Amino acid sequence: MFLSDLECTRCGKRQNAKSVQTVCDDCRGVLFARYDLDQVAKKSSKQALGSRARSMWRYRELLPVKEESNIVSLGEGFTPILHLTNVGPKLGLKNLLMKDDGLIPTGTFKARGMASAISKCKELGVKKVAVATAGNAGAAMSAYASRAGLETHVYMPKDTPEPIRLESKIYGANITLVDGTISDAGRIVDEVAAKNGWMNLSTMKEPYRVEGKKTMGLEIAEQLNWTLPDVIVYPTGGGTGIVGMWKAFEELEKIGWISGKRPRLVSVQSSGCAPVVKAIQDGKEVCDFWEGAQTIAAGLRVPKPYGDYLILKAIRESEGTAVEVTDQEILAAMRTLASKEGLWVCPEGAATYASLSKLRATKGLDDDETVLLYNTGSGILYPDIIA
Ligand SMILES: *Cc1c(COP(=O)(O)O)cnc(C)c1O
Ligand SMILES: [Zn+2]
Repeated sequence: MFLSDLECTRCGKRQNAKSVQTVCDDCRGVLFARYDLDQVAKKSSKQALGSRARSMWRYRELLPVKEESNIVSLGEGFTPILHLTNVGPKLGLKNLLMKDDGLIPTGTFKARGMASAISKCKELGVKKVAVATAGNAGAAMSAYASRAGLETHVYMPKDTPEPIRLESKIYGANITLVDGTISDAGRIVDEVAAKNGWMNLSTMKEPYRVEGKKTMGLEIAEQLNWTLPDVIVYPTGGGTGIVGMWKAFEELEKIGWISGKRPRLVSVQSSGCAPVVKAIQDGKEVCDFWEGAQTIAAGLRVPKPYGDYLILKAIRESEGTAVEVTDQEILAAMRTLASKEGLWVCPEGAATYASLSKLRATKGLDDDETVLLYNTGSGILYPDIIA
């Protein structure tokens, strides 16, 4: 395989990928996996993909696991892209698409990142893993870690929706419920993981979850026949999706599989926790901590993303933007997508649809543009909201 080393996204320092790494030794910046892309370009082809399994591991040349026997898989990836022919035209959008990660093991796209991170843990000999989570990352980590035979520690807010809490539980995780948000859970995990020698898989605190998230961008490109939509609308919490897709497009360009204009990235957040929206509006390079974060979209309740500077950079480089929607608008969007398109999406995914009328009103979208909404998970995990 083609993984070469790790690079700090803040100071540029290179680090060895043969041993366990978390964040940059020098500046605590987020580490990115780097590949020998010239070799990838020589040794792989779009055509060769055709005969491979329809999972995210079809892109193994751009993934960090060296030995195929270390791959821990539940069949994740290659989810459908659906044309929203009922609700799109009502908004004046003929080419409104949704990529639906509701159809993925554990019920959310978090499976992609954890499949990659846990496989790499197996390869590097890690035995114990921990995560601070708003809920869904904990469930995904627990599922893959159980399959790999690892000991699992999940720290999540007390008020995480019950079905999501139970998901970690059935997979056999050691669960600690924390007063506050994922930020409070994060402080605890940083400490206990260091003390106990657990691998900390919290968002952006290690390099390999982003690699799994990258497959969202790779799949969009392949499924749209190596063209990209004009706009991707994505519900943003910790930012792995935005950052991962942007990295995917960069690598695809470098190996010569795509060219031309990249999509504008639109981050959607809830008005109850919108640090990315505020930073974009204020022209800041990092987010301010969002006090009193509260929203029904649990995955978006991240008061200060660790990789905030990477999220903001990707949005700006793409000439995209960030918008907030209210929980009421999210609920209405859930109802509309279910009753008009047959899609029971999670509140985070519904937020992308809810943002469209605002984007249209501010001339952020033209009639003839191809717009892809990313649904990050299944609505079935949120029955209490429907009730
Ligand atoms: C975690 C989560 C998000 C936000 O994820 P990013 O890290 O910003 O990519 C969105 N939707 C759901 C369902 C989630 O669990
Ligand atoms: Zn650094």
